[in-house]
Amino acid sequence: METATKLVEIAKRLYDKNMNAALGGNVSIRLGDEIVITPAGINKGFMTDDDVVVVDIEGNKLRGNGTPSSEGKMHYEIYKGRPDVNAIIHAHPRFAVGFALAHREIPDDILPEATILLGYVPCLPYVTPSTIELACEVAEGLAHRNAVLMANHGAITVGADLEEAYNRMELLEQTCMSVVYATVLGSVHHIPEAEMEFFVDNFGLKREG
Ligand code: 13P
Ligand code: ZN
Repeated sequence: METATKLVEIAKRLYDKNMNAALGGNVSIRLGDEIVITPAGINKGFMTDDDVVVVDIEGNKLRGNGTPSSEGKMHYEIYKGRPDVNAIIHAHPRFAVGFALAHREIPDDILPEATILLGYVPCLPYVTPSTIELACEVAEGLAHRNAVLMANHGAITVGADLEEAYNRMELLEQTCMSVVYATVLGSVHHIPEAEMEFFVDNFGLKREG
């Protein structure tokens, strides 16, 4: 599938699944030296291929009509530190934003799939949106992880490709939702510590949190 079309499809999927609303969120794909990114300040659920912008890793616009995402720096700094990452999603999913408002992390020992796909997800301290300071904080947070929450803002996931970044965002949101339900029902029980060795040995999990 054409890169712009794929970006538009994923942005629509995020909107349709209540992971973005109004003007929130941004998505990018790295293709060699070029980064294909969503434009700033439009509803990403209703984009067309013509809205997509192409920039270099410093954010200089190469092609496209719109202005690149106001969080572009965040994407570029992450790519600089992670040669293995070729896609980034920033979103404002309802339950994940609830965690970000409560300054709550996601532990790495509650749901096996989340342990494998996400690992420990910290909630990084609040920094002004669209600044280089936020970009550097998030890039550092994602240097050895694949998902982080940003306090009082939202979530970011990365992947080798866009489907992997998307699956991480969808699972992050479902995990936050499940924790909320468990908390309503009583409390969250953790996987027994001895069982966590399985994930360390078989999936390279690095224990955190
Ligand atoms: P953009 O529309 O500029 O990408 O910004 C959306 C957003 O979520 C800002 O944090
Ligand atoms: Zn945002």
